[in-house]
Amino acid sequence: MSSTSAAPRILMRRLREIMARPGEPQARLDAIVTQIALIMVAEVCSLYLRRPDGSLELFATEGLNKEAVHNTHLARGEGLVGLIAERAELINIHEAQDHPSFSYRPETGEEVYHSFLGMPIMRGGRTLGVITVQNQARKVYADEEIEALETTSMLVAELITSGELDDGVAGMADRTQSRHFSGTNISNGIALGHVVLHEPRVMISEFLSDDPANENERLDAGLETLRTSIDQMLAKAELQRAGEHKEVLEAYRLFAHDQGWVNRLRQAIASGLTAEAAVERVQNDMRARMLPNKDRYWAERMKDIEDLGNRLLRILVGGVETAALSSLPDDTILIARTMGAAELLDYAPEKLRGLVLEESGAASHVAIVARALGIAAIGEVDNLVNRADTGDDIVVDATAGEVFLRPTSDVIDAYSDKVRFHAAKQKQYFKLRNKDAVSLDGEQISLKINAGLLVDLPHLAQSGADGVGLYRTELQFMIAAKFPRMSEQKEIYQAVLDAAGDLPIVFRTLDVGGDKILPYMRMSGEQNPALGWRAVRMTLDRPGLFRTQVRALLQASKGKTLYLMLPMVTQLSELIEARKLIRLEENFLAKHGHEGPKQLKIGIMIEVPAIIYQLDEILPLVDFVSIGSNDLMQFLFAADRTNTNVADRYDSLHRVFLQVLQKVITKAEAHNVPVTLCGEMAGKPLESMALLGLGLRSISMSPASIGPVKSMILSLDVKKLSDFMVEIMATHSGSLRAPLAEFAHENNVEVEPFKLDI
Ligand code: PEP
Ligand code: MG
Repeated sequence: MSSTSAAPRILMRRLREIMARPGEPQARLDAIVTQIALIMVAEVCSLYLRRPDGSLELFATEGLNKEAVHNTHLARGEGLVGLIAERAELINIHEAQDHPSFSYRPETGEEVYHSFLGMPIMRGGRTLGVITVQNQARKVYADEEIEALETTSMLVAELITSGELDDGVAGMADRTQSRHFSGTNISNGIALGHVVLHEPRVMISEFLSDDPANENERLDAGLETLRTSIDQMLAKAELQRAGEHKEVLEAYRLFAHDQGWVNRLRQAIASGLTAEAAVERVQNDMRARMLPNKDRYWAERMKDIEDLGNRLLRILVGGVETAALSSLPDDTILIARTMGAAELLDYAPEKLRGLVLEESGAASHVAIVARALGIAAIGEVDNLVNRADTGDDIVVDATAGEVFLRPTSDVIDAYSDKVRFHAAKQKQYFKLRNKDAVSLDGEQISLKINAGLLVDLPHLAQSGADGVGLYRTELQFMIAAKFPRMSEQKEIYQAVLDAAGDLPIVFRTLDVGGDKILPYMRMSGEQNPALGWRAVRMTLDRPGLFRTQVRALLQASKGKTLYLMLPMVTQLSELIEARKLIRLEENFLAKHGHEGPKQLKIGIMIEVPAIIYQLDEILPLVDFVSIGSNDLMQFLFAADRTNTNVADRYDSLHRVFLQVLQKVITKAEAHNVPVTLCGEMAGKPLESMALLGLGLRSISMSPASIGPVKSMILSLDVKKLSDFMVEIMATHSGSLRAPLAEFAHENNVEVEPFKLDI
């Protein structure tokens, strides 16, 4: 292309004429490649479009053999063109044949060309095809040539998605095909419903404009609105309602004022695009340039820029509201790349059935809220947002970590059965809620729920649990935008206690660090955060933080019993130090004439192996203990609980683990200290059965597990199981899952509530 700045405008004018021409789309594609070749002074310009099977078909060419059109097909990922489509990245090289992916197709006659520039044709993040130019001379294409090809690829994308081309082209077929995705379970459950995109896609209808002055005015107005909205979000005191973190907003503000970005937008407008098309082109351009950079920092920045660009697009196109505010179907399955916990709470919970996220794992804040709301949720699902459309049918099987988009009728039938079965079981469990959890041989078991947000509390009555065995206070801190003040904490604890009525709640003091991150708290980058500055270690180093929380809890519990539990206690001195700080707060309360709790009970979590060897010293100093089997497993087996490669490698029914649990239970009994277990294993019927066999009589779990675990208890003879366990623990090694499952089977103990293979 000549390097004069008039070239983009000429190209744009020609393209506009071609697009406006009546007639066959194929004729338009032919005219486009001819024009590109002419204006870019390229000997070849070719256009490949994706077929539904992922292959790429040569659809138009200037310069290659015409007979190859519609006859040359490249398999998924084949050749340079396949590579561009697969990676959605441009390739710009002076010697195509030296590239390891070069694939020679004799029918095209392309062996004489050396330099090669190829660009993906993208729409809404999906690759629809590839456009290429080639030259005999060895050269690397210049920036303005890349930009010209980008603009062309946007127009071709528009032509494809407008539905005018052969309906076998991927643009249309892709949207109707049924697809299967895998991810990780972040909140148990199965849901059938309809897709709602958390951030509705902005579709541009006008790409070209011959009035750049008007487009610049629109851009200026749009930028002004964008900047004001970011300033307002930053200024908002209640930042958490916006679901944003201050740092991200600060970054947005910087980008929104970035002159480089604005200049690129103006250049794109000058080349003949509308303001919105200019935003999309600059975004595509940045994506293409930044994609090869796999650095996490850059990936994050790219997301910030994309979010900002999308906000600007929404402003320019207008009328696209966020999904939370629009009317939702009753069976909404929400899909998002990522989402803040507070944003999820903006949706009407009664309409939500499921949630699928591309980026969040089970430890994320939004996952915690999804569990609290009791909706099926899956995280780490690649590339779903760009493939789904609002209104699509979708099945989410969170338990299996599977998503079926636009499922076939067989899948829908099978899942409808599964959901019906699930619902029938839930009804049965609901009927059990007022029944005592007493085993066949008369053992009374206390079943409690784990909670962490106010939205969890209604589950207490619905499940018929005896109280909250673990209230994770850090969850409130995790979804906030800054440290909650004493008064805010007190208000929440009071509301939680009120909601629980007379039932006891065990409040665990702040357990942050490890996988629980407070976005507003600076933590130095630790090599092994799970073993690092976390939980009680951190709060003892920050006594102000600890005392504020204790003060809020003491005041909120006036006239009631306050159960206070310390996480991750590793040695006696930590308990003694924490007790001293608690005592200071009790004195403060008395001195200032505040009414405190009627009784204060202090307990610790048993989740670090070292504490198990100090039980004789520590048990006389506590009122209760609770075994945190999640962390205890992690530390005992040296297996990171958040790392999917190792987390499931060791069985919680391993004999060694059961022996360790037994030791704690026996010691606690000997010291007359009540003992509970509140890790995830308590909520699994076979595991909780084993816990009863070891002598435990109190367990705490997620609310959805109360029903299945109670059913197990009602069908169990605990004495018989205990005798059996004494025997197998003496004779077996490794995991005791198989003999325990066999015991359950032979004695009709209900341990597999949801077993239904499809
Ligand atoms: C545990 O470690 O088992 C536990 C209950 O605490 P958390 O999962 O919050 O670490
Ligand atoms: Mg723990």
